[in-house]
Amino acid sequence: MHSLPVLVLNSGSSSIKFAVYEAGDGARTRLLEGAADGIGTDEGQFWIKNAEGKRLTDEKPALPTRAEAFARVEQALKPGALPAVKIPALGAIGHRMVSGGPTVVENQRITPGLIDEMEKYTAFAPLHTPIAVYIMREALRLFPGVPNFVCLDSWFHRTMAPVAARMPIPEEYAAMGVRRFGAHGLSYESIVYQLQPRVPERLIVAHLGNGASISAIWRGACVDTSMGLTPTGGLISGTRTGDIDPGVLLFILRKIGERTTGTAEAADELETVAAKKAGLLGVSGLSNDMRDLREAIKAGNKSARLAVEQFTWTVKKWIGAFTAELGGVDMLVFTGGIGENDIDSRAEICAGLDALGIVLDAERNKKCVEARGAAVISAEGSPAEVRVIPPAEDLMIVNHVVRLMGK
Ligand code: AMP
Repeated sequence: MHSLPVLVLNSGSSSIKFAVYEAGDGARTRLLEGAADGIGTDEGQFWIKNAEGKRLTDEKPALPTRAEAFARVEQALKPGALPAVKIPALGAIGHRMVSGGPTVVENQRITPGLIDEMEKYTAFAPLHTPIAVYIMREALRLFPGVPNFVCLDSWFHRTMAPVAARMPIPEEYAAMGVRRFGAHGLSYESIVYQLQPRVPERLIVAHLGNGASISAIWRGACVDTSMGLTPTGGLISGTRTGDIDPGVLLFILRKIGERTTGTAEAADELETVAAKKAGLLGVSGLSNDMRDLREAIKAGNKSARLAVEQFTWTVKKWIGAFTAELGGVDMLVFTGGIGENDIDSRAEICAGLDALGIVLDAERNKKCVEARGAAVISAEGSPAEVRVIPPAEDLMIVNHVVRLMGK
């Protein structure tokens, strides 16, 4: 195969990350990566790094809208826009999508009709879908003739059995597509990929970032995952409740209903409470960022301590549940910003899990951050191996695009 230049677009609720890869026979070379972050604020960030990690662009523009953010990305990719790096004419574009809803379950070429279909299910990933479909439409318009492909997080979780995927709700709503889809699928997929050819039989991967989830993986295939219909379910995370008694949401909804008139308005406000104001931020009343919370704990802040304790305690509970589902655990992998960097979170989560065969080595756990790579942090003789592995979502997107281009 000739070398294929692939643009990877990965949008979050307030960021657009991008990277350009050159994909040849088995080789994947990243030419550049960048991000427009802080969309919707006056204090945005726009940066681009070359293959060696050198910053080519580092700006702090106001990014009030996603249109302004994506325009910057598009401008930067124009031939000659970055003198320090030769950007080839794009051969394909790969888009990360959290959930395509019940009808779009396979990674595939994007058409305007496909975007309309996925947009019907915005409620299944309300923070992510609006910006993702906007960028897909813009990419079709701005790069005419370049094939675009959607790469779904939910794809990795398609192997879940009905016992894990079905929600205990009346069939009427299940028939509308309401089920467990899970998220962070490209991250999980990339961990399994990186473990090849020795993927352990009973694998638990904890993706702990600002959004946090955990998956049970049997022989490389997803058996169960913590996130549900939307990324708001499952573990407590930065600003999301995670799993919660539905009665709590009804209580809040009724309180909101006392001062609003429209149902849609009340639902939007409830969504803001559950997905943007809860979790670590809600309990600490301080921040959704683990680094801030660790600092606050050192300064004696009790709410920050409670928030972080709840977070690590929930992850521990799910590790226990997934160990039961898998009939034991051969390997536990930590990934995501907290999973890769927060020594204390890993130590607190693994403390007392000896009975499950998980024994951490304190020194290895500390050193692994300095090494900043894939590292084994379990003790010698621990029945289950514990590792830290950074995700490689972009690489998975490039692999899917190459495969789909070959079809
Ligand atoms: P992500 O969403 O994967 O980028 O992860 C973001 C989370 O990782 C935030 O809560 C950060 O505070 C946390 N994080 C990043 N670096 C560190 C670090 N060195 N120590 C502790 N937490 C970190």
